[in-house]
Amino acid sequence: MCSGWRCRCRPRRRIALWSAMASVGFVAGDVVAGSPDEEPDPEPRIVMPDESMYSASPQDGGGTVTVHPRAVEAGRPCTLTFTYTCGPKGVEVGGGVLCYVSRFWHWSPPQDQAAQMPAYTTVACSNPGIELSVEIDSSSQTVLARIGGRGLEAGDRITIVYGDTSGGTNPGGLATADRYAERETSFFFRVDGDGDEWFGPIAEQPAFDVRAGEAVRFAAFGPSRVAVGRPFEVRVSALDAANNLAEGFAGELALVYDAATLEVKPPVAIGPSDRGSVGIRLVGRKPGLVRVGIQDPEGKITGAMSNIILLHEPAEERFGLYWGDLQSHGNLSDGTGTPEELYRYARDVAGLDVAAVTEHDHWGYLPLDGSEANWRRVLDATDRFHRDGDFVALYAYEWTNWTYGHQHVLFRRREEARVWSWRDPDSDTPVELWRRLKGADCIAIPHHPGGGPIPTCWKYYDAKLVPVVEMVSVHGVSERMGQPGCIYSPEASGMAQAALGRGYRLGMIGSGDTHDGHPGIGSPGTPAPGLVGIYARELTRDGVFEALRARRVYATNGCRAILRFHSGAVAMGGVLHVEDASAPRRFDIAVVGDGPVAGVTVVKNNADVATLKGDGLIFSERWTDSAPAKSGDYYYVRVAQTDGGWAWSSPIWVEVR
Ligand SMILES: [Zn+2]
Ligand SMILES: [Zn+2]
Repeated sequence: MCSGWRCRCRPRRRIALWSAMASVGFVAGDVVAGSPDEEPDPEPRIVMPDESMYSASPQDGGGTVTVHPRAVEAGRPCTLTFTYTCGPKGVEVGGGVLCYVSRFWHWSPPQDQAAQMPAYTTVACSNPGIELSVEIDSSSQTVLARIGGRGLEAGDRITIVYGDTSGGTNPGGLATADRYAERETSFFFRVDGDGDEWFGPIAEQPAFDVRAGEAVRFAAFGPSRVAVGRPFEVRVSALDAANNLAEGFAGELALVYDAATLEVKPPVAIGPSDRGSVGIRLVGRKPGLVRVGIQDPEGKITGAMSNIILLHEPAEERFGLYWGDLQSHGNLSDGTGTPEELYRYARDVAGLDVAAVTEHDHWGYLPLDGSEANWRRVLDATDRFHRDGDFVALYAYEWTNWTYGHQHVLFRRREEARVWSWRDPDSDTPVELWRRLKGADCIAIPHHPGGGPIPTCWKYYDAKLVPVVEMVSVHGVSERMGQPGCIYSPEASGMAQAALGRGYRLGMIGSGDTHDGHPGIGSPGTPAPGLVGIYARELTRDGVFEALRARRVYATNGCRAILRFHSGAVAMGGVLHVEDASAPRRFDIAVVGDGPVAGVTVVKNNADVATLKGDGLIFSERWTDSAPAKSGDYYYVRVAQTDGGWAWSSPIWVEVR
C-alpha cells in the first residue's frame, strides 16, 4: 500500500542515506489558494534517497535471473528457485547480488535460522573459489549474497532457494505464496558489480505467475439503472477465497429472478473459454426494483445476489448512471496484477463502467518515471480495454508526493498523457504539477486527503484542474473527523470538509486505491474500496470528463446505492442562483439503497442540519431551508444504509444575485 512499503536497505549501505528533498514555493497564477503567505508548507513525511548522489558503474545491474517453477498457487506452500547468472562484466570482490522477496502481498519473510521453519532460504554459488557471505533480513525481506575470495566471472551462478525443503527432508521450510493472483509477478534483483554499495536493477526481472485457488463463491454485478426493453448484462464471476478470479472455473449457473419483471437470454453458464467470468444477458419487462441471484446447481459454490437494479421507463432519464473506480495499483508499482488484469477485473468481475490504473510515478521496486516501457504498457492496456459506450478506461498515474499529499492525474488523450514525477524538481509541488498539466485535457484528484499514508495540503488548489476530491477509499473516509469508517491517522486539515470550508468547489468521489488486484471489490477482511457514481450523458471519455468537471458525481464506500440530490433544475455539483435571499430553498433527495436506508443527513456549510429517517430501500423527501441564503452556502447529503453502506452527494452551492 502507499503507506506500507518502503525500500528498507541496511543502514551501512550508502544507498540507505536519505537526503533532504523538495524545493518548496508558492507560485501565483490562476491557482486559487487559501492564504498562502500565512500558512507554512508541511514537512515531508518520507524523505527518499537522492539517487543522483550515487554513480552506477557499467558493472552494476549486470547478469540474468531465471526462476523455477514459473507458477505457484496463491496463498499456498511453495518453493521458488532463482538462478543468477553473472554477465560478461563480472562482479568484483565486495560486490553482490540483492534479492527483494516481494512485499506484495503476504509472501512469507525469508529466513536462514531454522530449516524447519517457514521460508527457509539458502544461497549457493556454482564456483567453489568464491566465498559468499549471505545476509538474510526477514524484516526487509531481502537476501544479499556478497562476493568474497575472488570475483564472479561470466557464467558463474548464484542459486537462491526460497522455501528450501532440502529435497523434502525438512518440509517445514516451505514458503507461503502471495495471497493475490497475478501474472508476471517477480522477486526484484539488483546487482552491485564494482563493490561500491550501489546496487543497480538487473535489466529483466524474473517473472512468474501466481494462480488463483479453487472457486468458492460467485460474484454478480449489474447496472444500477436500466431502461425497460433495453438489453443489459449482469456479470457473473467465480472467485476463490481471497476474491481472486478463478479463471479455470467452468460450469452451469442457476438464476433466481422475478420472471414477471425480467427476461433472461441463454446461455446461463460460465464456459471453458470464459476464463471464470461471463455476462448474463437480460431484458427488463416492466419498471421496478430487481436483483438477480446466482446459484451453483451442484451446490458446491456459494451463491451471490446482484446489486439492486432499477428498471425505469425508457425516456425517463437524461443521464446514465455509471460506476467507476479511478484508483488502482498493480505490479508495475506496489500492487498486484498487470494493467490488463486490473482492467479485466474492474470490467468483468466488479462490473464497473469506468476504471483507471494509477501506478505510482516513483514508489515501488521499479519506478514508472524511470521506465518508458512500463508507462507504455499502462497506456496500451488502457487503449485495449477502452470501448465507447461499453467501458471507459482512462490514461492515469498517481503523483506520490510525500509532502503535499498524493493526487491521481487522469488524461483525456493519450498524446498528452505523461508522468510528471514528484521526484522531478520541475513538478515536485502541486503548483508546479498543475503548471505542467496546463494545456492538457486532464483532471487531478486529491487522494486519501484526510490522512492515511499522507493527508492533502489544502493550501493549494486549482479550480480548473481539481473538480473533485476522493473522500473514501480502502484507507477509509476523508469527509470529516469522527465519521464512522474514518481514515486512519486522520488530520482535520486534510478532510474534504476542510477544503469545502475554504470555499473550494469540489465534487465527491470514492475510489479504491486497491493494491490487491481487485479494483471495485477489494478482498475479504480488508476495508471495502470506494466507488464513484457518475451521471454522464454518454459512456465515453468525453462523457466521464464532462461529468467529473460538472461534479455530477457522488461517492460511496463500495455500496451501489442510487442517489439523487437536486434543488429544482440544479443537480448535485451545481450552483443554485437565488434572487431573493429570504425565500426558502428546497432540496429533493431520492435514494434507492443497495441495502435498507437507515437515514439521510443534510449537511449545510459542514454542519449536520437535518437527519431524516429511512424506511426500506426507497427514500424520497424534500427538505427546506428557511434560513436566509448567503452566497457561498453549500449543501450535501450523507446517506447511511443499515448494512454499513454509505454514500455522499456532491454539494450544491448557493449564489445570491
Ligand atoms: Zn496514495
Ligand atoms: Zn494510490
